Amino acid sequence: MITIDEWPAEECLAVYRHNLYMEREAALDDTVIISCKDESTLLIQIQRHIYSFHVTGSWEELSEGDVVSISNKGRIHLLYKMGQSEIDLFITNKCNSNCIMCPLSELSRKKMIPSQYQWIKEYIHVLPPDIPYINITGGEPTLDTDKFQDILKNLKKKFQKSQFQLLTNGRSFSDTSFLKETLCNIPNYTRFAVPIHSAVESVHDRITQSPGSFRQTDRGIKNLLKYDQKVEVRIVLSKINIPSLRETVEYIANNYRGIFVVNFVGLEMMGNAARNKDMLWMDYKFLFHQIRESILFLICRGIDTQLYNFPLCAIDKGFWPLAAKSITDYKIRYKEECNDCMAKPVCGGFFSSTLKLMNPEVKVIQEI
Ligand code: SF4
Repeated sequence: MITIDEWPAEECLAVYRHNLYMEREAALDDTVIISCKDESTLLIQIQRHIYSFHVTGSWEELSEGDVVSISNKGRIHLLYKMGQSEIDLFITNKCNSNCIMCPLSELSRKKMIPSQYQWIKEYIHVLPPDIPYINITGGEPTLDTDKFQDILKNLKKKFQKSQFQLLTNGRSFSDTSFLKETLCNIPNYTRFAVPIHSAVESVHDRITQSPGSFRQTDRGIKNLLKYDQKVEVRIVLSKINIPSLRETVEYIANNYRGIFVVNFVGLEMMGNAARNKDMLWMDYKFLFHQIRESILFLICRGIDTQLYNFPLCAIDKGFWPLAAKSITDYKIRYKEECNDCMAKPVCGGFFSSTLKLMNPEVKVIQEI
C-alpha cells in the first residue's frame, strides 16, 4: 500500500527504472517513470511533474523495465514483468454477441471504459519491443473499426518480430472491405482465433444469443481463408453444443480448407458461464469421452487439433500430446491432491474460477 501525495486523479502507467531516476526520465517526458529514492519513498514523474509516494509495502518484486498501472486511488498493479513471454491486450469490453458461456458478464460488457484506447496506446508505447507472443482480445476487439485499425498500426510498427493472436468472433470479417483494411494494418505474424459453436445455425446463434451470427462468422472464416490467413477454429464445449459436435467437425473439415488448427476448449466458469452453469457444465472426463471421436475424425482428415483447458487426468494418455497448457499463468490453480500427482509439472491445471465454482474431480496419476 502507498499513500498519495498530490496524485492526479487519473489512472496511468509507469515503467520501473531502478536507480535511473536522474538520468532517464527526462528523455521520456510523456512517459511515467517510477524510481525509488530510498527504501520508503517512491518518485513518479508525469510530464515533468514529480510525485512522491510513501511506500509501506515491499518493492522487491519490481525490477527494471516492469510496467505497472497506478489507479486513481493510488493502488499499484503489476501489468508486465520484464522478460514475460506473453501478454494480453484487452482492447474493449464491448461485444456484438452475448455468448451464454462468456467468462465476462453481460453487465461488465456494458460498462463504459472512457479512455481505454488511449490507455492501450500508452501501454504499447511503454512495453519493450521484443515480447514473443501478444494476444489481442476483448470483448470483440474489432468493434470500433477506426480505433482497432489504429491500434493494429501501432502494434505493427512496434513489435516487428512478435507473434500475434487475434481472438475475435469473426463477424466483422464477413465484410470484405473491413478484412482488406485489416490485412493492410495487421502485424506480420498474426493468427486469427475464431469460435464456431456449432454448424447447426440455430445452436450457434442460441449460444451467442445473436441471431445471424453463425452466417457472419462462417462468412468471416471463409473470407480469411480465401486471403490465406492463419485461422484457428475454437469449439467451446458445453451441454448445448455437444449433441451437434459431430456435424460441426464434419462441416469444418468439408468447408474450411486450409484451416490451421481446431481447438476444443473447456469452459472458464466466470461471468455468463458461471451464471448459466447448470445449462452448460459437463464433468471433464465425461466431456472428453463425448469429444474423443470428433478429435480422431479431424486428425484422420489431416487437421491438427488441440485440447485447451483440460486437466490431464480427465483425458486418455494417448491424447496428452494434444493438451496445451492454455491457461494464463496467474489464473492457474491445482487441487490439494495434485501435489501428489506425477503429471503435475506437465498438467495445465484449472482456471481459478472453475476450480472454485465447480470443484472438479481429479484422479492423481501415480506414474507417467
Ligand atoms: S491430478 Fe491434478 S495435476 Fe494431476 S493430472 Fe489431474 S489435475 Fe493435473
